[in-house]
Amino acid sequence: GLPPACDFTVFGGTGDLALRKLLPALYLRDREGQLPADTRIVGVSRSDHDQAAYREEVRAALLEHVDADRLDDAALDRMLARLHHVTLDVNGSEGWHELHGLLKDRARHEDTVRVFYLAVAPGLFGSICRRLDEIGAADANARVVVEKPVGHDLASAQAVNDAVGEVFEESQIFRIDHYLGKESVQNLLVTRFANTFLEPLWNSHWVDHVQITVAESLGVGDRGGYYDHAGALRDMVQNHLLQLLCLVAMEPPTYVGGETVRDEKLKVLQALKPMTPADVDRDTVRGRYDAGLVGGAAVASYADDLGHDQSDTETFVALKAEVHNWRWAGVPFYLRTGKRLDRRTSEIVVVFKEPPHAMFPHSEGGSTPNRLHIQVQPDEGMRLHLTAKEPGPGGIRLRPVSLDLSYATAFAQASPDAYERLLMDVIKGNPTLFMRRDEVEAAWAWVEPILTRWAASPDRPRRYPAGTTGPIAAATLLERDGRTWQESD
Ligand code: NAD
Repeated sequence: GLPPACDFTVFGGTGDLALRKLLPALYLRDREGQLPADTRIVGVSRSDHDQAAYREEVRAALLEHVDADRLDDAALDRMLARLHHVTLDVNGSEGWHELHGLLKDRARHEDTVRVFYLAVAPGLFGSICRRLDEIGAADANARVVVEKPVGHDLASAQAVNDAVGEVFEESQIFRIDHYLGKESVQNLLVTRFANTFLEPLWNSHWVDHVQITVAESLGVGDRGGYYDHAGALRDMVQNHLLQLLCLVAMEPPTYVGGETVRDEKLKVLQALKPMTPADVDRDTVRGRYDAGLVGGAAVASYADDLGHDQSDTETFVALKAEVHNWRWAGVPFYLRTGKRLDRRTSEIVVVFKEPPHAMFPHSEGGSTPNRLHIQVQPDEGMRLHLTAKEPGPGGIRLRPVSLDLSYATAFAQASPDAYERLLMDVIKGNPTLFMRRDEVEAAWAWVEPILTRWAASPDRPRRYPAGTTGPIAAATLLERDGRTWQESD
């Protein structure tokens, strides 16, 4: 259920994330009547805005980032009337008094939920939390939302978690991974656990291997400064790809609840086989884009985007992981992600084993292994690849065909954006789709030996032309095992 009132405070309220994602998501939920009636939205930033100027800035952002058919004056006015702005530098002491006054407004309900969304650099999280504590805003009604990156490695992630945890209980801390808010990702759990036919096959007896791809066609753009300190392994694998792997590999919890799902995901992360330096050399590939053509347009190299050529940061990773438990022993999980690839797609492919006996030796066309292809974005959906007989009077000809589920055609209503779902979960206090501290740290613990080995290795990231599927070595990683990446058609 919804709380009677909500004060939703965004630190970094004039930033890219707030204007492009958070405020449009709140607007869209408000338009559907989903926000608590008595909701205020407080933008906190260093900008010297008064309330009117902030409303103008947010109005312009909504007009730019919300689909035209979902913009209407009544909803816009209602949303803008909720907005407040407080100017403060979180490192300074001025402005907190004003924020305190706003949040302490006597007319407010006693059980107003207070959300603090930290859409600022992680280095600021600790001091924000301490100040919130000092002004008495960090009580039991408060929730804090933390954006990625949570840390740079295990030790810094622990430091961020410690700093936030000094003020807030774990149950008040919502670490967001927007991939978990996507409909198709949640549907993965429903498909696995609300149907009977898949689960008996979902193990090493019947699954040959799993592929998870998160490909971007964009380059680093003007975020090269940030990105160059992270790289694809930290920016994408440690969070998004490992979270997707967890949902594919986890055991069924007794029910879907905040702790039960996260307990099961944690067990998967803890079962990932740790990589030795030799494993890293053999089972990981890092790449970096050169100039090339993406969708027919010429694009620059990473070095040119960055403005110098002194970097060894990877913009592409492919790796082979193993989940060492009873269900998955011997089943490789191949992960890859990169920037400036040939297209934008996030997908999971579960490749089943060949039938135990080939019954159509004289047929034309071979059988192809069954595959379940889960499209996370764009065009959320699911496709089951089967082998069928091609109609015709002659001999038997085998042809691959697919059963298709497209969200857009199967369901009339549009899928909400991931942030719409996740922000409502914060307001309602539902932590299921957020990362718990132990998950984040277990993921870092697995990733760290890869970072360490890469830093020590004489190898450099392999170059790939923009607009391709990445370095050749990523294909070799699978070919060595007699497999190939399944490129969707
Ligand atoms: P941004 O630079 O566009 O905006 C930063 C915001 O923080 C501004 O409103 C600025 O006024 C405010 N701010 C900065 N320093 C401050 C200070 N000392 N005191 C008070 N306010 C301060 O950044 P962004 O792209 O919105 O990203 C914010 C955070 O979210 C970053 O940590 C980023 O890594 C993370 N993140 C961003 C995105 C995205 O799509 N932009 C996605 C995931 C995570």
